[in-house]
Amino acid sequence: MTELEKLEAYSKVLALLEEHHEFFSKSLPLIASENVCSPAVREAVASDFMHRYAEGWPGERLYAGCRYIDEVEKIAIELGRDVFKAEFVDVRPISGVVANLVAYCTFARPGDMMIALAIPHGGHISHGKEKWGGTAGVVRGLEVERYEFNEEEHEIDVDATARKLRRLEADTGKRPRLFMLGASVFLFPHPVKEVRRLADEYGAYLVYDAAHVAGLIAGGRFQDPLREGADCMTMSTHKTLAGPQHGMVVSWSRYAERLKQVAFPGLLSNHHLHHVAGLAIALAEAKAFYREYAGAIIRNAKTLAEAMHELGIDVLYEHRGFTESHTIVADVTKYMDGRTAEEKLERAGIIVNRNLIPKDYRLKTDHRKPSGIRLGVQELTRLGMNESEMKHVAELIADVIVRNREPEKVAKDVEDFRTQYRKVHYCFESAVGAYDYIRIR
Ligand SMILES: *Cc1c(COP(=O)(O)O)cnc(C)c1O
Repeated sequence: MTELEKLEAYSKVLALLEEHHEFFSKSLPLIASENVCSPAVREAVASDFMHRYAEGWPGERLYAGCRYIDEVEKIAIELGRDVFKAEFVDVRPISGVVANLVAYCTFARPGDMMIALAIPHGGHISHGKEKWGGTAGVVRGLEVERYEFNEEEHEIDVDATARKLRRLEADTGKRPRLFMLGASVFLFPHPVKEVRRLADEYGAYLVYDAAHVAGLIAGGRFQDPLREGADCMTMSTHKTLAGPQHGMVVSWSRYAERLKQVAFPGLLSNHHLHHVAGLAIALAEAKAFYREYAGAIIRNAKTLAEAMHELGIDVLYEHRGFTESHTIVADVTKYMDGRTAEEKLERAGIIVNRNLIPKDYRLKTDHRKPSGIRLGVQELTRLGMNESEMKHVAELIADVIVRNREPEKVAKDVEDFRTQYRKVHYCFESAVGAYDYIRIR
């Protein structure tokens, strides 16, 4: 690279960032695993905390210079305990996957059996078997077995799972050590109490992965896994919980020492202190605003699902009210495959993702062209949209999928519509727009 080319790369990256901001300010972001932070969280993330090291626990650091970092981390822990009514909180895991690894290393040993959801049933790659490159198998050496799943109800079949496990024990002598709950297509609360009873038959642990639904739980609108019998809850802090990209572990005092030691020095060196600061602010917002925010998310998801369904799109689980969370899933094969739908919608400024749905498991569909799309309304809700806006969003989606309107024409309507929704809601202050590019050069 010449000097000139290096200079061009510098300008090019900054220009691309600005274009990305422009793109999102004109789009309808509906990826179920994303959200937009408040301006205060963005300020924390851009602070000098991003340059520092603070290995260990507040007050017992391996680095000097942590006097303010320690205070902030203690506030994050206190707020986490308050919001999730938990005895123990660790805000150091740097992502949801790392939080799951903390749980795997605390509650199971290599070779142990873990029960988790299959991916087409909503399971996450971090719960996966070694042969698929899943974290549980590849990194912790767990043997993963699947829950039996009722496709009609989109629900774990606990009785059928219990029968399967008894057969497995009779055939191989193997018993489960860890039951994992939680999913990436998380439509309805999981049967935590029932799985707890099953886990108790084996003296096994129960961990609940709240990556997607942490914000709904924080708002008291989904379920309360710790009270329903979970030993531990892991999460990402940036999906329905609209903080910076990070992870968190929430549990009981009796597991605190082992969880702490596994996190550090087991799985982390430094733990991204700017994100810890952003998380502290996000948790303060959760305490103040999420009862209302989470309620609005769930109402909006149901409204969007119903409106899309009325316009001819096969949104799944109508008989269960489509969803009790931020997420809805639609089978689009009446019109096109999920990948084509994703591509066309993106050209229209509507950002969703293609997704495997339960029937793909049976049909062994090519995972690159799944039958479904997954949509989450948490980000649109945070932009201040309510039920009437959801009905309009459904029309725009139907324009592309059902009416086969030119996506670039729909993009113009999307852009117009978006001009009314610029600020982040459900936070203390919103001085700048949700997708404003902030120059600090
Ligand atoms: C998103 C997700 C994760 C992990 O997320 P990170 O990207 O590592 O924060 C873990 N489990 C489930 C169920 C998820 O959906």
